[in-house]
Amino acid sequence: MRDIDGSYGEGGGQILRTALGLSCLLRKPFRLFNIRKGRRKPGLMPQHLACVRLLALISKAKVHGADVGSTELLFEPGESGSGDYFFDIGTAGSTSLLLQAAVPPLIFAKTPSRITLAGGTHVPFSPPFQFISEVFLPMLGRLGIGVSASLDRYGFYPKGGGKISAVLNPCRKICGISFEEPGAIVSVSGVSAVAGGLPPSIAERQKRSAGAALAGMPVRPSIEALRVDTYSPGTFVFLKAETETSVSGFSSLGERGKRAETVGEEAARELLRHLEAGGCLDPRLADQLVVYLSLAEGPSSFTTSRISGHLLTNLMVIKTFLGTRFLVEGEKERPGRVKIIP
Ligand code: ATP
Repeated sequence: MRDIDGSYGEGGGQILRTALGLSCLLRKPFRLFNIRKGRRKPGLMPQHLACVRLLALISKAKVHGADVGSTELLFEPGESGSGDYFFDIGTAGSTSLLLQAAVPPLIFAKTPSRITLAGGTHVPFSPPFQFISEVFLPMLGRLGIGVSASLDRYGFYPKGGGKISAVLNPCRKICGISFEEPGAIVSVSGVSAVAGGLPPSIAERQKRSAGAALAGMPVRPSIEALRVDTYSPGTFVFLKAETETSVSGFSSLGERGKRAETVGEEAARELLRHLEAGGCLDPRLADQLVVYLSLAEGPSSFTTSRISGHLLTNLMVIKTFLGTRFLVEGEKERPGRVKIIP
């Protein structure tokens, strides 16, 4: 039984999600203690519990400590099977993060799976759906992993009510890959959206301010203003930058009291910071891809514009399960390079 300290590094929900995904894939049980000790309200929150329940369903696991507020969890997976899964988080918890947790065991099943998740699709501290469909999944595709996702309904904080579906195809092997040089910028595109009866002018203002912040770029940004149907009001900007070798995503969410101009600028500034710092993978993508690079046949390496706490924390969880060797060049919060030797 592996013992994992949930207070390590970031001390957040990512430790739990990575542990669950790898535990089910490898059929290795674990005990997680000090769950989310680094957070203001420690222990399992509904969105983390949803993750435990979904992965327990997929792997027919025996579970102890799966309660709201629990700071210790025992998880003993059985054999993971493909299937048609539906799961409602019941809050605005992130459907993107839940999907990510379920990918490792399902892509190594013998037949395809379909998964439908209800909850939040554009909520704080998580990838907005477009990051999944336009950045994360296409990059998984380059490693030989075939997953496609569609957005059935948007869901914002606090009501949620969104829905996404994904089809996960069986993968024979993951190819190790090098993402070293980003190359020249090829395009910048994105969406500025408003939902739930808020005035469409907000989407236009967000779009204009993002466009203005990106005005000095060598390519002309193409940003679409959208109005979407939801149960709850919300706004966001998602921007995607494609270079010769990579794709990266940046976003910002609207909230009460936050100016539309700030929402547009925030996403644009993040994009500019990434391109100026250099590095193939954006900081979020880096922490999310290392799970798959560690499962690859053969070594991988990548440069990133920022070595984040999430990246370093995820490497530790991965090492616990796979014994992978990592070489991190650079300081935390600075650009750097990571080598992965499975
Ligand atoms: P906690 O509630 O403990 O903070 P959590 O379940 O929200 O936990 P974290 O441990 O903070 O999770 O992990 C959040 C994950 O979401 C990370 O993989 C991070 O890269 C990703 N993420 C957060 N914001 C974005 C974003 N704007 N775009 C893409 N990915 C994001």
